[in-house]
Order: sequence, then structure tokens, then C-alpha cells
Amino acid sequence: MKVAKTISDFRRLRGELAAPAGFVPTMGFLHDGHLSLVRRARAECASVVVSVFVNPSQFAPNEDLADYPRDLDRDLTLLEEAGTDLVVTPPTESVYPEGYDTWVTVERLTERLEGGDRPTHFRGVATIVAKLFNLVRPERAYFGQKDAQQALVVRRLIRDLNYDIDLVVCPTVREPDGLAMSSRNAYLSPEERAAATVLHRSLQRVETLYADGERDADRMRNAMRELLAAEPLARPAYVSVADIEDLTELDTVDRKALVSLAVRIGRTRLIDNVVLPPGEEIA
Ligand code: AMP
Repeated sequence: MKVAKTISDFRRLRGELAAPAGFVPTMGFLHDGHLSLVRRARAECASVVVSVFVNPSQFAPNEDLADYPRDLDRDLTLLEEAGTDLVVTPPTESVYPEGYDTWVTVERLTERLEGGDRPTHFRGVATIVAKLFNLVRPERAYFGQKDAQQALVVRRLIRDLNYDIDLVVCPTVREPDGLAMSSRNAYLSPEERAAATVLHRSLQRVETLYADGERDADRMRNAMRELLAAEPLARPAYVSVADIEDLTELDTVDRKALVSLAVRIGRTRLIDNVVLPPGEEIA
């Protein structure tokens, strides 16, 4: 495994990689969710590129950029074990040099859910993903369903900007009790960690309702709100049952839907989602 710590080193090493190249963008502090993407890329591609870059432009000023967990040495060990060929960890000032002024915005799809709660988030995401696609020039890119709206935004970015890249969206990897793996889980105290299972429990409740024939989206959203209200440490930001194409809220689940929620547990903001009907792919 090679590690490029500058963009120019990366450009030189990128030339040595066999096609097709699979690319996994990450912000590091890796867990099994990230590694499932790397392993899938390893199984499907001749070479595997991973970026480890905590992207400041997707954090608002009041968010957790300064605290975001980092452990590059551990990440590199895990990436090597998972079969990565080339890692790029560019310094922030080379990605966003003094006077940086160019932004990529995906409209509409980014106005709701995560974008409604974090208005500048997806401008940062779309910009870094476009910049990394230009640098890495992969044939395939691997993203997690955990960040479902992000995957939909990337799908739109690929289509609208004519990137010749196949998007692969991989299933959410969970802890044994259902909590979706996330680098931010490291912030949780033991009490908060126990409370955090309420996200998955709420989604499971909706899946059960759906399996029992419920199609009324309001009743589904209310079922999630009820479970969240019963968890004293949980402060919901939103619950949603939305059309998976444009993320508008549904009245009736008569087509493919994204059921998602964002919840603050203490100072930690967690998200999770499932697709209805169960087992359907997101993108
Ligand atoms: P991040 O480091 O949080 O930016 O995540 C990097 C990539 O890993 C994104 O495509 C995420 O959707 C994906 N990812 C994060 N957590 C999980 C998880 N629990 N299961 C599957 N993919 C995940």
C-alpha cells in the first residue's frame, strides 16, 4: 500500500494503478462501515484508492470540525489489511488554498433533511467529492447507504457533471444492537450509547408497520416520534418518510421511500435510515 501525503505525490502514484480503479472517500477514524466499502471495492476493482480527509467545508462553524476524531496511523493499518493500493491524505491548505472560491452546489435535493438542518453541508460535500473525482479519476466510487441523502446527491452530481463513474452504494453496517457504525459514536458516553439505539428501534418500528400493511406516512412518522419522545436523552432534528427520488415527504408509501431521521444525543448528532420496501437499493 502506498500513501500520498501531497496532491503531487498522489498524481505520480495514481499513474501506476491498473483499471478499473475503485475509490472510497472517507474522513478517517475508520470502522467496519468504511472497511466494508473498501472490501467491496477490492473485490470488484483492479485497484483501490481511499482518501482520508476531514473536509472542513462540510462542517458549519458551530459543528464538530475541531473535535472530529482522527487516528491516521490506525486508519493506515486497517486500510492496508483491507487491501487498499493507494491512500491520499492531502493537507487542508492544498485542497483549499488561500483565496479558494469555487463551489459545487446540487440544488433541490439538498434543501431537505440533512440539508434543511445543515444548510451549507452539501455544498461542502459536493465540492470535495467533485475535487476528489477530478484528482482520482476512478471508474467506480463506493459510498455508504448510512449517508443516504449524500449518496443521492453524489448520484445527481455524477449525472449532471458527466462524470464517467459508476456509483456503488453499500449497505449500512451496524453494531450488534443495531446502532449504525459512525466515527461520531466515539463521542457517546455509556448512557448516551445505550440511548442511541433509539434511532434503529424507530426505523424497525416503521419496517414492522410496513410489513403489517401500513402505508400512511404520517402514522409512520408519528410512530418514530413516539419512540423518540420516550427516550429522555434523544432530541430529534427530523423524522422523514420521503420519496426516494426527490426526497419530498410522502402522504402514502405507494412507491420506493427513504425513511430517515436525525437525532441529537447529548452533543452528538446521529443519523440513520432504511429503504421501503425493505431490501430495495438506494441508488
Ligand atoms: P465518512 O468518513 O463519515 O465521511 O464516511 C465515509 C463513507 O463511509 C461514506 O460513504 C459513508 O456513507 C460510509 N459509511 C459511514 N458509516 C457507514 C456504515 N455504518 N455502513 C456503511 N457505510 C458507512
